Amino acid sequence: MNALLIVDLQKDFLPGGALATPEGDKVVAPINEMQDEFDLVVASKDWHPPDKVQHFQKWPPHCIQNTEGAEFPDNLNRENIAFVFKKGTGKDDDGYSSFEAVNRDLEAYLKEKGVTKVFIAGLTTEYCVRFTTLDALRRNFDTYVIEDAIEGVRQEEGDEEKAKKEMAEAGAQLIRAEEIPNILGH
Ligand SMILES: [Zn+2]
Repeated sequence: MNALLIVDLQKDFLPGGALATPEGDKVVAPINEMQDEFDLVVASKDWHPPDKVQHFQKWPPHCIQNTEGAEFPDNLNRENIAFVFKKGTGKDDDGYSSFEAVNRDLEAYLKEKGVTKVFIAGLTTEYCVRFTTLDALRRNFDTYVIEDAIEGVRQEEGDEEKAKKEMAEAGAQLIRAEEIPNILGH
Protein backbone atom coordinates (compact mmCIF):
# COMPACT_ATOMS: atom_id res chain seq x y z
CA MET A 1 0.00 0.00 0.00
CA ASN A 2 1.08 3.53 -0.71
CA ALA A 3 -0.17 6.80 0.67
CA LEU A 4 -0.06 10.45 -0.26
CA LEU A 5 0.39 12.67 2.78
CA ILE A 6 -0.61 16.29 2.15
CA VAL A 7 1.20 18.36 4.76
CA ASP A 8 -0.32 21.61 6.06
CA LEU A 9 -1.86 22.83 2.84
CA GLN A 10 -3.81 25.59 4.62
CA LYS A 11 -4.87 29.11 3.72
CA ASP A 12 -2.55 30.78 6.23
CA PHE A 13 0.46 29.29 4.43
CA LEU A 14 -0.67 30.51 1.01
CA PRO A 15 0.08 33.96 -0.47
CA GLY A 16 -1.95 36.50 1.52
CA GLY A 17 -2.11 34.24 4.57
CA ALA A 18 -0.79 34.94 8.07
CA LEU A 19 2.44 32.99 7.46
CA ALA A 20 2.62 32.94 3.70
CA THR A 21 4.87 30.96 1.40
CA PRO A 22 5.56 33.18 -1.62
CA GLU A 23 4.34 30.54 -4.11
CA GLY A 24 2.48 28.05 -1.94
CA ASP A 25 -0.60 28.13 -4.16
CA LYS A 26 1.43 26.48 -6.95
CA VAL A 27 1.21 23.06 -5.26
CA VAL A 28 -2.60 22.79 -5.27
CA ALA A 29 -3.02 21.85 -8.95
CA PRO A 30 -0.39 19.07 -9.00
CA ILE A 31 -1.73 17.69 -5.70
CA ASN A 32 -5.25 17.60 -7.15
CA GLU A 33 -4.00 15.80 -10.22
CA MET A 34 -1.91 13.15 -8.51
CA GLN A 35 -4.42 12.00 -5.88
CA ASP A 36 -5.93 9.27 -8.06
CA GLU A 37 -2.57 7.51 -8.28
CA PHE A 38 -2.56 6.56 -4.60
CA ASP A 39 -4.22 3.82 -2.56
CA LEU A 40 -4.76 6.24 0.30
CA VAL A 41 -4.74 10.03 0.68
CA VAL A 42 -4.40 11.68 4.09
CA ALA A 43 -3.62 15.23 5.20
CA SER A 44 -2.22 17.01 8.20
CA LYS A 45 -3.22 20.39 9.56
CA ASP A 46 -1.46 22.83 11.80
CA TRP A 47 -4.20 23.31 14.39
CA HIS A 48 -3.15 25.79 17.04
CA PRO A 49 -5.08 27.10 20.02
CA PRO A 50 -5.28 30.94 20.04
CA ASP A 51 -3.16 31.14 23.19
CA LYS A 52 -0.33 29.02 21.83
CA VAL A 53 2.33 30.90 23.72
CA GLN A 54 5.72 29.56 22.66
CA HIS A 55 5.17 28.85 18.95
CA PHE A 56 3.65 32.31 18.47
CA GLN A 57 6.71 33.98 19.94
CA LYS A 58 8.61 32.55 17.00
CA TRP A 59 5.95 32.89 14.29
CA PRO A 60 3.06 35.22 13.55
CA PRO A 61 -0.17 33.60 14.81
CA HIS A 62 -1.41 31.19 12.12
CA CYS A 63 -3.70 28.20 11.59
CA ILE A 64 -5.74 28.87 14.70
CA GLN A 65 -8.35 26.19 15.31
CA ASN A 66 -11.69 26.73 13.55
CA THR A 67 -10.59 29.89 11.73
CA GLU A 68 -10.56 30.53 8.00
CA GLY A 69 -6.76 30.51 7.92
CA ALA A 70 -6.68 26.91 9.12
CA GLU A 71 -8.89 25.73 6.25
CA PHE A 72 -7.73 23.91 3.14
CA PRO A 73 -7.59 26.10 0.04
CA ASP A 74 -10.99 26.28 -1.68
CA ASN A 75 -9.58 24.80 -4.88
CA LEU A 76 -8.07 21.71 -3.20
CA ASN A 77 -9.84 18.48 -4.02
CA ARG A 78 -10.75 17.17 -0.57
CA GLU A 79 -12.96 14.24 -1.59
CA ASN A 80 -10.21 11.64 -1.36
CA ILE A 81 -8.79 12.72 1.99
CA ALA A 82 -9.48 9.79 4.31
CA PHE A 83 -8.41 11.50 7.51
CA VAL A 84 -7.02 14.86 8.68
CA PHE A 85 -4.30 14.59 11.31
CA LYS A 86 -4.21 17.67 13.57
CA LYS A 87 -1.03 18.80 15.24
CA GLY A 88 0.41 21.72 17.16
CA THR A 89 -2.47 21.75 19.59
CA GLY A 90 -0.35 22.24 22.71
CA LYS A 91 1.10 25.43 24.19
CA ASP A 92 4.71 24.66 23.27
CA ASP A 93 6.67 25.25 20.10
CA ASP A 94 5.55 21.89 18.72
CA GLY A 95 3.68 20.38 15.82
CA TYR A 96 6.21 20.66 13.01
CA SER A 97 5.82 16.99 12.07
CA SER A 98 2.57 15.36 10.99
CA PHE A 99 3.63 12.39 13.13
CA GLU A 100 3.01 14.60 16.20
CA ALA A 101 -0.74 14.62 15.50
CA VAL A 102 -2.78 14.20 18.64
CA ASN A 103 -6.24 13.34 17.31
CA ARG A 104 -4.89 10.08 15.91
CA ASP A 105 -1.49 8.39 15.69
CA LEU A 106 -0.33 8.74 12.09
CA GLU A 107 2.27 5.99 12.25
CA ALA A 108 -0.18 3.47 13.71
CA TYR A 109 -2.85 4.50 11.20
CA LEU A 110 -0.57 4.00 8.20
CA LYS A 111 0.83 0.71 9.50
CA GLU A 112 -2.67 -0.64 10.22
CA LYS A 113 -3.54 0.04 6.60
CA GLY A 114 -0.40 -1.75 5.42
CA VAL A 115 1.22 1.38 4.00
CA THR A 116 4.94 1.00 3.29
CA LYS A 117 5.49 3.85 0.81
CA VAL A 118 4.70 7.39 1.89
CA PHE A 119 4.69 10.25 -0.61
CA ILE A 120 4.94 13.71 0.90
CA ALA A 121 3.58 16.93 -0.59
CA GLY A 122 2.49 20.29 0.83
CA LEU A 123 3.95 23.09 2.94
CA THR A 124 6.50 24.17 3.95
CA THR A 125 9.69 22.63 2.62
CA GLU A 126 11.96 23.91 5.40
CA TYR A 127 9.65 23.12 8.32
CA CYS A 128 6.66 20.81 8.37
CA VAL A 129 7.55 18.93 5.17
CA ARG A 130 11.11 18.47 6.39
CA PHE A 131 10.19 17.34 9.93
CA THR A 132 7.45 15.03 8.63
CA THR A 133 9.84 13.47 6.11
CA LEU A 134 12.55 12.87 8.71
CA ASP A 135 9.97 11.31 11.06
CA ALA A 136 8.63 9.05 8.27
CA LEU A 137 12.16 7.80 7.64
CA ARG A 138 12.73 7.16 11.35
CA ARG A 139 9.55 5.05 11.30
CA ASN A 140 10.93 3.00 8.41
CA PHE A 141 8.57 4.09 5.66
CA ASP A 142 9.93 4.27 2.11
CA THR A 143 9.69 8.02 1.91
CA TYR A 144 9.31 10.08 -1.24
CA VAL A 145 9.19 13.86 -1.35
CA ILE A 146 7.46 15.27 -4.41
CA GLU A 147 9.59 18.29 -5.27
CA ASP A 148 7.11 20.00 -7.54
CA ALA A 149 4.35 19.61 -4.93
CA ILE A 150 6.17 21.33 -2.03
CA GLU A 151 7.03 25.00 -1.49
CA GLY A 152 9.26 26.83 0.93
CA VAL A 153 8.59 29.79 3.21
CA ARG A 154 12.02 31.11 2.09
CA GLN A 155 13.07 33.17 5.09
CA GLU A 156 16.72 33.01 4.05
CA GLU A 157 18.29 32.44 0.67
CA GLY A 158 19.23 28.78 0.29
CA ASP A 159 17.02 27.43 3.09
CA GLU A 160 14.92 25.33 0.71
CA GLU A 161 17.95 23.71 -0.89
CA LYS A 162 19.42 22.99 2.54
CA ALA A 163 16.18 21.31 3.62
CA LYS A 164 16.03 19.18 0.46
CA LYS A 165 19.62 18.12 0.92
CA GLU A 166 18.98 17.13 4.53
CA MET A 167 15.94 15.04 3.56
CA ALA A 168 17.85 13.33 0.75
CA GLU A 169 20.83 12.58 3.00
CA ALA A 170 18.51 11.06 5.58
CA GLY A 171 17.25 8.64 2.93
CA ALA A 172 14.25 10.32 1.31
CA GLN A 173 13.86 10.08 -2.43
CA LEU A 174 13.21 13.44 -4.02
CA ILE A 175 11.06 12.92 -7.08
CA ARG A 176 8.93 14.81 -9.60
CA ALA A 177 5.19 14.22 -9.84
CA GLU A 178 5.58 12.76 -13.33
CA GLU A 179 7.64 9.88 -11.88
CA ILE A 180 4.87 8.67 -9.57
CA PRO A 181 3.16 6.23 -11.99
CA ASN A 182 6.48 4.54 -12.68
CA ILE A 183 7.38 4.19 -9.01
CA LEU A 184 3.96 2.73 -8.27
CA GLY A 185 4.16 0.44 -11.26
CA HIS A 186 1.10 1.92 -12.99
ZN1 LIG B 1 2.44 26.34 13.37
